[in-house]
Amino acid sequence: VTTRRPYDILIGQDILANTGSYVRECVEPCKACLVTDSKVNTIYSQVVISSLIEAGYQTSKIVFPEGEHSKNITTYTNILESLAEEGLSRSDLIIALGGGVVGDLSGFAAATYLRGIKYIQVPTTYLAAVDSSVGGKTGLNLLYGKNLAGAFWQPSMVICDYDTFRTLPEQEMLDGVAEAVKSGMIMEANLIDKVLKKDYGSVIERCVSIKKSIVEADERDTGIRQLLNFGHTVGHSIERLSSYNTSHGLAVAKGMVMESYAAYKMGLTDFDASGFLRETLSRFGFDLSIPYTAEELYKYALNDKKIHGDSIAMVIPESIGKCRLQKISLSDLGRFLRLGMEDYPG
Ligand code: NAD
Ligand code: ZN
Repeated sequence: VTTRRPYDILIGQDILANTGSYVRECVEPCKACLVTDSKVNTIYSQVVISSLIEAGYQTSKIVFPEGEHSKNITTYTNILESLAEEGLSRSDLIIALGGGVVGDLSGFAAATYLRGIKYIQVPTTYLAAVDSSVGGKTGLNLLYGKNLAGAFWQPSMVICDYDTFRTLPEQEMLDGVAEAVKSGMIMEANLIDKVLKKDYGSVIERCVSIKKSIVEADERDTGIRQLLNFGHTVGHSIERLSSYNTSHGLAVAKGMVMESYAAYKMGLTDFDASGFLRETLSRFGFDLSIPYTAEELYKYALNDKKIHGDSIAMVIPESIGKCRLQKISLSDLGRFLRLGMEDYPG
């Protein structure tokens, strides 16, 4: 990925045990602090730490409780304090081993500890593999909403061993499906067939390639990168309204169906993508119901960081594999949500 600091993405099977030797290709032996969550820790940290030691790194480990509820200021502060306690310097390294929560928090810690140290993403969820581990968006949730604090900070490498999905619960696999379908919807219709065939290697490769091209064109999320937010305005509101009990991917799946339907009803597009999306997502067993009112969704949508002044860029499907951005005013956003929820087909 050719951002200001270019980096490689490795995708493969049974490569976790070689993490140390891959890391050596981009960072000289140093102190390497593994950051992970309580669940991933019990399954995968030993093999990664052993390979790092073998490759000459001096290792330490920070573990926090698994789940989206940990993606907060308290966990972030604890990570920073632990990095300081371990005596990591500017030439040292963080290894983020886990899903999007680990990646976002570790990346933000890496971006801010000593004003920025290197980090490597080792995604272990389908969602992190196809989306969050690439692109350098890092951050955490505030009480008022998702991802409201953060930084752009690119990793030095991404090492994705999709054999790790073997231990991933079905629900977490669905989260990856939702983000992969999203990438297909915005850029590449064929990708959706690959998702349906569960051809993980090529789904990850295509999603990462799509994200790479978008991030290279717009690292700081001021233009085309906002296409990746398809389904996320409504999705983030649903996550927040459910107190994060609805997972990110599931919320995005609901959001994509609802936003597509609303865009069609509002006359922003001639193409109603909601039927195709509902049919595709139902094949995986997604529950697409939205147990909230348009007013509730609107309240949390107003805290969305995608809002600029009094407008928000919505992602409008034009066909399968092609979306465009359209700015709508906040009062139109209210109407958009009301139309979408009026006889919402989820
Ligand atoms: P997660 O990190 O919470 O992981 C989900 C669950 O799976 C956790 O309980 C975790 O312990 C467990 N787990 C992880 N790997 C496992 C494995 N191999 N085997 C068994 N269990 C495993 O959540 P996620 O779905 O990976 O990521 C969601 C987060 O990613 C959200 O906070 C979202 O905002 C963020 N995100 C960020 C970006 C970005 O660009 N930075 C993009 C999309 C999503
Ligand atoms: Zn997402």
